[in-house]
Amino acid sequence: MITRFAPSPTGPLHLGHAYSALTVWKVARDLGGTALLRIEDTDSTRARPVQEAGIYDDLVWLGLDWPAPVRRQSDHVGDYDAVLGRLAQAGLTYPCGCTRRHIINAGAVPGADGMVYPGTCRDRDMANAKPGDGIRLNMRKALAQVDCPLAYIEIGASTAQTTQITHKKLTDDIGDPILRRKDTRDPAYHLACVHDDALQGITHVVRGTDLQDLTPLHVLLQRLLGYDTPLYYHHRLITDESGKRLAKIDKSKALAKYRAEGLTPQDIKHMISFTD
Ligand code: GLU
Repeated sequence: MITRFAPSPTGPLHLGHAYSALTVWKVARDLGGTALLRIEDTDSTRARPVQEAGIYDDLVWLGLDWPAPVRRQSDHVGDYDAVLGRLAQAGLTYPCGCTRRHIINAGAVPGADGMVYPGTCRDRDMANAKPGDGIRLNMRKALAQVDCPLAYIEIGASTAQTTQITHKKLTDDIGDPILRRKDTRDPAYHLACVHDDALQGITHVVRGTDLQDLTPLHVLLQRLLGYDTPLYYHHRLITDESGKRLAKIDKSKALAKYRAEGLTPQDIKHMISFTD
């Protein structure tokens, strides 16, 4: 059994991350497995070394440890390009130069992965890609390649249930996701995450319910790439007093700040109602 905690170093870790990390390590311990740390720093416009250093400090402070070496996705961009090349070879991708403004002006509606792309560039050919273009997955073509029903197993504290994924959910709620960003050429989270989960032999993905709506896309990518689908456990989110989900930008809630104020890991566990 192998699971992972895979933060993006784009801001300080907050109480929600503490809950997630502690849950990942608890599941690994309960099942006699291993918890890995993976740094998901493919967004070159937002990832910061200082935040990565903060992640290591915070996790050590919480009493968590992990086997070396840590996989840092920015060190493996060539791997994700190769994976994307396989999807392109299969005719499942197209180049897209649309800006966010274009997409909004074309009447896009919000979905699970930002705006659902309205399809403006869908008929473009990879052979005509321009240097600054992004690359998208053609969802309809991808689904046409999948021969049997898409599903995954969602586990809970003492339950396991099969979750079916409808094609409609993928076309209407996700659409044609970006797999390589425009301009920066950064690989998208979905591609890097799915590839690394397979490469690292992840058997259990433990992460928050905020990512649950993206799991169908990850399962589809696993199927297209010939990867096994791990078990998924989407844990509850930590909310503030008003029930609002804590965002990374809420710096006042940074774990490092609580630490500087003299709180202990035990105090943190108490605040987020985490029991070992
Ligand atoms: N890097 C993602 C995040 O920080 C989490 C990825 C995952 O657990 O699948 O939101």
